[in-house]
Amino acid sequence: MNSSRAKLRDEVYTQMMCAQARLSKDQNTQMGAVLVSADGRVISTGYNGAPAGFDDETVPYTREKQLLAYDLLDADSGELLSHHEFEANKYPFMVHAEINALHYARGKVPPGSKLYVIGFPCERCSLDISLSGVAEVFVTKDDYDPKSTLNNNRDTAYYMFAQAGIIVTLCGKRIKPVVSKPEKK
Ligand SMILES: [Zn+2]
Repeated sequence: MNSSRAKLRDEVYTQMMCAQARLSKDQNTQMGAVLVSADGRVISTGYNGAPAGFDDETVPYTREKQLLAYDLLDADSGELLSHHEFEANKYPFMVHAEINALHYARGKVPPGSKLYVIGFPCERCSLDISLSGVAEVFVTKDDYDPKSTLNNNRDTAYYMFAQAGIIVTLCGKRIKPVVSKPEKK
């Protein structure tokens, strides 16, 4: 494939991924992902949000903690065993865009597949990406902030990609992470 064709594909799938992100109900963070085979077929897409089937009315979608409640019933008789209340924000409930795209590929990730993502994948997603068979991760935005708890795990992510032999394209630059030896004593 010539390079202008490859560039066009990257542009098109980046636009597709950004369009996907608009579907997210999370108003603070709208992320999208598109999984594409080596021959340019879209395998699946994803955006961040609670898992399909979760009730949007009762799942938090904010950074602020909300009071949530649930009951434990006897599964056979339906009798109330106990009532529980706790506080939580959106973070434990959000499935990241990358994970949704991989999930909806239903395990069918052909060799050479490329995953388009907006920001650098977090540690959690990087591990799943390493397991998925994806050959390349294409990141459009370099959002590295060493002070952020979200991004301070980039070393672990790169190390996972090195172990899995995954190429990272960051802002147009193709990078091959490889495991090396520590120089510090
Ligand atoms: Zn993630």
